[in-house]
Amino acid sequence: MTTSNDLPLAAKPIDRAAHHRLDKDWLASAQSRDDVLILLMQEGQPLIEKGGLLWLGPQANALSPDVSVLFLGRDKAGAPIFALDMPAHWTLAGSPIEGLGEFEDMRAAIGAMSPMEANCTSTARSIFEWHRSHRFCAKCGADTEIVEAGWKRACPACGAEHFPRTDPVAIMLAVKDGKCLLGRGPGWPAGFMSCLAGFVEPGETVEQAAARELFEEAGIQAEPETTEYLFCQPWPFPSSLMIGVILQATTEEITIDPKEIQDARWFSREEARAIIAGEHDEIYCPPPFAVAHHILKVWAERDD
Ligand SMILES: [Zn+2]
Repeated sequence: MTTSNDLPLAAKPIDRAAHHRLDKDWLASAQSRDDVLILLMQEGQPLIEKGGLLWLGPQANALSPDVSVLFLGRDKAGAPIFALDMPAHWTLAGSPIEGLGEFEDMRAAIGAMSPMEANCTSTARSIFEWHRSHRFCAKCGADTEIVEAGWKRACPACGAEHFPRTDPVAIMLAVKDGKCLLGRGPGWPAGFMSCLAGFVEPGETVEQAAARELFEEAGIQAEPETTEYLFCQPWPFPSSLMIGVILQATTEEITIDPKEIQDARWFSREEARAIIAGEHDEIYCPPPFAVAHHILKVWAERDD
């Protein structure tokens, strides 16, 4: 059975060692250790070498004085892991690490990463995006500062504490009588279809959100209590938790909301198997680093 731990961005998470986050002396010394593992991000893009993430050692600390630092935790051997967010004006060209790697689009890069690298990079991307968009205190408007090794912002003016957010998203496969529903968002490439999805709203359960989104986007009705939870995975675009579910539709007639999706269609299990195998004539689905791929795969491989 597929579980959250089998998903590429969630698999084999490192030990976050959160008890070190308040210990500035420990953090400073850990960041300079010979065995430290440091990954670099710049404007949401990880530094990649051929074949995966480029890990740097303590030399990364001298690259720029103007970085945000995030302590990610420790690997299985105990080596501390940090991420540095390089300022937008910093360039690889002319730096001591010129030629070792390139900053690459996260979605393009993630497929070549190991699960541990993908998990670390996803975490760093979400946290750094949050820092970029939460510089000011939501209570009083003053400049806030990064504390606790990158995991919190504090307001020196009013004392408010601000924590990075994770937005729950219900991502669903509606099924009925041996068929499943896939949709296509506006602007997606021709032939690319995926599970429908939507943010869980305040006051709502995951099950209710799935049924509501299904009706809003495709006009299909389902009973929330039929929702079957499969697994979840963090999704760093910018900071969602994708909660994968299957739910039983009670109607079949599709009425799309063109603001939300461009197309939706029912597919047989045979077609779903072909889509997952990359052998469908017309339709292809998200790659294995996306939750949607695994939801569709779970259902396609069932016999019921
Ligand atoms: Zn404040």
